Amino acid sequence: MLLDNFNRVHDYLRISLTDKCNLRCTYCNPNDLPKGIFANAPRMTADEIDQIVSVFVRSGVKKIRLTGGEPLVRKDAKEIIQRLSKYPIELAITTNGVYVDEFIETFKEAGLRSVNVSLDSLNRGKYFSITQRDVFDRVQNNINLLLANDFHVKVNVVLMKNINDTEILDFINWTKELPVHVRFIEFMPFIGNKWSSEKVITHQQILDIISSKYHFIKLLNEKNDTAKKYFVPKHQGSFAIISTMSDPFCSGCNRMRLTADGKMYNCLFAKNETDLLCSLRQGKDIEPLIQECVKGKSLMLGGNNEEENWGNQTGESHERTMISIGG
Ligand code: SAM
Repeated sequence: MLLDNFNRVHDYLRISLTDKCNLRCTYCNPNDLPKGIFANAPRMTADEIDQIVSVFVRSGVKKIRLTGGEPLVRKDAKEIIQRLSKYPIELAITTNGVYVDEFIETFKEAGLRSVNVSLDSLNRGKYFSITQRDVFDRVQNNINLLLANDFHVKVNVVLMKNINDTEILDFINWTKELPVHVRFIEFMPFIGNKWSSEKVITHQQILDIISSKYHFIKLLNEKNDTAKKYFVPKHQGSFAIISTMSDPFCSGCNRMRLTADGKMYNCLFAKNETDLLCSLRQGKDIEPLIQECVKGKSLMLGGNNEEENWGNQTGESHERTMISIGG
C-alpha cells in the first residue's frame, strides 16, 4: 500500500503518454510556450510504461488515467491501452476528443468506459480562438459517439474571465437533454500561460451565475473526489466544479503522476520529481522509490500553499508546464 505521512492511501495514478498535443490552447499549450529542459529527455516506451505500471499495481494502485499532452496522438497509444487492460484496475482517459472516433473500439476492448473530453466552448468561433485549431465539429461528433456507445462522458471546461465565462449557463442548458457531466475547472497558473488571479472564476462565482437561472442540488462527495458535484433536477447530465484555486481539495488526495519522460510527481504542484525511468533502465527496483516519493508528499498543493508562493501574479509557480507533467 502506498501511504503518505498524513495517512492518505495513494491508489490513483495519472500517466502522461506524451507531452505533445495537436491543439494550442492559449492557457495550456500556447504557440510561444518555452520547450524547457525536458524536451530532449528520453520518453518511456510502451514496454517501459507496462513495467512501471506493474509495480504501481503491485503497490496497490486501483485506477489509472491516461493523459498528456494529448494521449491519443501517441503512435502506439492503442498498444499501450491494450497492454494496460490486463491489469485489475479502472482504466480512464482524458483527451481533447479529436481522435476518439479512431479509438472507440480499442476503448471498448480494453474495458475503458470513462472518457473525459476537454471542450472549453460550445461556440465554434470561440473554440477556435482558444485552441487555434478548426476541430470543433469533430470533437462534438465524438462526444455524441461516446454517448451513443454508453460511455461515461465528463466534459472539462477551464473557465477564464472574459473568454468563456459567459457560457456557463449554455453548458448547464446542454446537460438538459444530454447525459454529459460538465466539470468547470478553475484556471490554474503554469509557466507561460499568462495566468492572473483576475482571470479566475471561482467556485462561488460559478454557483452564483448558475443559481440566477437554475435550481440545483449538491450531491454527496466521495472521499477522493476533486470535483464538487451538483445536478439540476430533470436534467440528463450533471455539473461539477474543480476548485483548485479557491478551495483546494488536498485532504483526501490519492493521486500520483507519471510524466512521459518517466518522472514521478506526488502532486501536480510538487517541486521535486523522482526519476523512475532512469532507475528502471539501470535495472533497479523502483518500488522503494515510489514508496519514498509518496512519503515525501506535502499536506497541500505540493507545499505551495504559503501565500507568497501560491497564486502569484506571474503564475510561474512551476518549472514544468501543465502539458509536460500531464493534466
Ligand atoms: N489533451 C488532453 C485534454 O485536452 O484533455 C489531456 C491533457 S490536458 C493538459 C488535461 C486537462 O487539463 C484539460 O481538461 C485541460 O483543460 C486542463 N488544463 C490545462 N491547463 C490548465 C490550466 N492552466 N488550468 C486548469 N486546467 C487546465
